[in-house]
Amino acid sequence: RSKNEGRGRYHFYVAEMDQEVQNRKAIERDLRHALATDQLCLHYQPLVDLENGAILGAEALVRWFHPERGSIPPSIFIPVAERSELIFRLGRWVLLRACMQIQTWHSQGLPPLQISVNLSPAQFRHPDLLDTIRSIIEQTGVDPAQLQLEITETIAMTNFDYSVQVLREMRDMGLSIAIDDFGTGYSSLNYLRHFPVDKLKIDRSFVVDFDHHPGNDAIVRAIVNLGHGIGAKVNVEGIETAEQLSFMRDLACDECQGFYFSRALPAEEYARLVTLADPWVQDGPK
Ligand code: C2E
Ligand code: MG
Ligand code: MG
Ligand code: MG
Repeated sequence: RSKNEGRGRYHFYVAEMDQEVQNRKAIERDLRHALATDQLCLHYQPLVDLENGAILGAEALVRWFHPERGSIPPSIFIPVAERSELIFRLGRWVLLRACMQIQTWHSQGLPPLQISVNLSPAQFRHPDLLDTIRSIIEQTGVDPAQLQLEITETIAMTNFDYSVQVLREMRDMGLSIAIDDFGTGYSSLNYLRHFPVDKLKIDRSFVVDFDHHPGNDAIVRAIVNLGHGIGAKVNVEGIETAEQLSFMRDLACDECQGFYFSRALPAEEYARLVTLADPWVQDGPK
């Protein structure tokens, strides 16, 4: 290969990196502004009982509507926030908002269903996390039993002893714990026994091409047995079709979430669904 070609590639590479850094900086700047100006909000995706379709609670998912760029998905801005101190502000904001919302629903007479909040890796490892959660619970007066925290399998397995200690303290505070995106990381089954865990959430990737990958069937079955074996509930994410729903029901999953039932909804729409006697009959699956 000629020297020139090599150099060209190098410059191309630098230009691309530069572009990426620029993008990241722009998102970071705009996100900082968004946090200060109320461009963020939480949407709530119903968690549905696989047995009877009852709404068991919701997962809070952050949404960003950028005034010029439109809505930006969390898969874009959470990783950017993770690379700076912004993730701590964002994480605190999400926890506070979710707890405030729980109390608003409480005052409106809604049943006390559980709300699940995602914790990012850096947030989970921050030494102030437990104090932050304690103060938010105190400040809002939320019943900790209504708050579930989600960490991914990978977060949980990184620095295992520390993770177990933090999870135990969360449990002692009355919070419950879900392991998110389960099946995509590298949990040693032996280690999992030591986790204080209330729920395993089977990753959506095991549902997407369920019919084309017969092996998924065995994996889901194994995770369900494992979860039940350690006394945890098993949730399956990303149910989009009636077929997937009935597969997962046959495999004895406890709970699901997915577009078949509902996307994440604004707080008022979620609350309205909860008050319906049979949300899926009246409205039909969304
Ligand atoms: P996650 O925690 O695994 O959340 C589930 C994601 O799957 C959500 O995407 C949800 O909208 C999507 N989903 C649910 N059902 C279906 C379905 O049937 N089909 C498809 N295609 N997707 C479905 P979303 O809201 O874009 O969030 C993506 C990820 O961003 C989340 O994955 C979570 O890791 C992160 N995230 C979202 N909100 C927060 C937050 O407040 N804090 C932190 N730290 N992370 C968040
Ligand atoms: Mg989650
Ligand atoms: Mg998940
Ligand atoms: Mg997932």
